[in-house]
Formats: sequence, C-alpha cells, structure tokens
Amino acid sequence: MTQRTLVLLKPDAVQRKLVGEIIGRIEAKAGWSIAALELRTLDREILEQHYAEHVGRPFYEPLVEFMASGPVVALVVEGERVIEGVRQLAGPTDPIAAAPGSIRGDFGTIVRENLIHASDSEESAIRELKIFFPGLS
Ligand code: GDP
Ligand code: MG
Repeated sequence: MTQRTLVLLKPDAVQRKLVGEIIGRIEAKAGWSIAALELRTLDREILEQHYAEHVGRPFYEPLVEFMASGPVVALVVEGERVIEGVRQLAGPTDPIAAAPGSIRGDFGTIVRENLIHASDSEESAIRELKIFFPGLS
C-alpha cells in the first residue's frame, strides 16, 4: 500500500540542527522516498488551517505561536504504509512518554516542542498535503 504523508520538522528541530538526523531516519526506511521538501516559515493563516482540529484547546495559541517562530522543513514522504510508519518513528505526542529510539523519545522533553509533525491518517494526509503542497500531482 503506497501512501503519501505530510511531515513537518518543527522550528525546534531546525534550530537544534536535527534536520539531517531526522530526515536520515526517514530515508533509511526501505522503499520510502522524499517526494517534496521545502524550508519555510509558516504564517498564522496556514497554521490555522493545519491545526483547525485544535482550535479552542488551551495549547492552541502557544502552539501556533511556536510553529510560526522560525522556519520549518516541510516534506512529502511516500512509500509503503508511510502514514503509520512515520507516526511510529516519531513516537507519542509527549516526548517523555515516547520510547527511546523514537524521534521524540530520543530528542524531546517538552510536549509542544516535540520536533516533528506527521499526518495521523489517510484522510489527514490528503487534507494536509493540499494545504502545504497544493501543486503536487
Ligand atoms: P500529534 O499529532 O502527536 O502532533 O499531536 P496533536 O495533534 O494532538 O497535537 C498537535 C501538537 O500540539 C503536538 O504535536 C504538540 O506540539 C502540541 N500539543 C498537543 N497536546 C498538547 C498539550 O497537552 N500541551 C501542549 N503544551 N502542547 C500540546
Ligand atoms: Mg496531530
């Protein structure tokens, strides 16, 4: 089952120079490839679309502020079961709950600054890819 997913390396990952390390882990998975990649500073408008499901939650405003605080690396990754697979590589949202060996488990401590976003379902992937890479065929 070949899929595409949206990955964002969050501002903390870029600032801490973990981009190579994280992309390396994704690239190392058999058969997965990077279909698009961009360094980009996100504005409020795109973040409001991206995080629409979280509007009104107490963490929403600081999350949007953090995500706009510096450049992110946005990637489209494609390959076999890549949606579930990248979520697995990332680990759970809370880095302290994330197992060592996962990206969040190895590098994170703060829930908000958890290094990576990855689409959580096929439906989310389609929606998010349209927001970030509207020109992708
Ligand atoms: P994800 O799919 O694992 O990224 O998690 P969610 O979709 O639930 O939340 C989106 C992002 O909001 C997370 O990656 C965190 O950066 C942040 N976040 C989620 N829950 C919390 C929380 O309880 N507290 C804080 N401070 N941030 C949160
Ligand atoms: Mg999510």
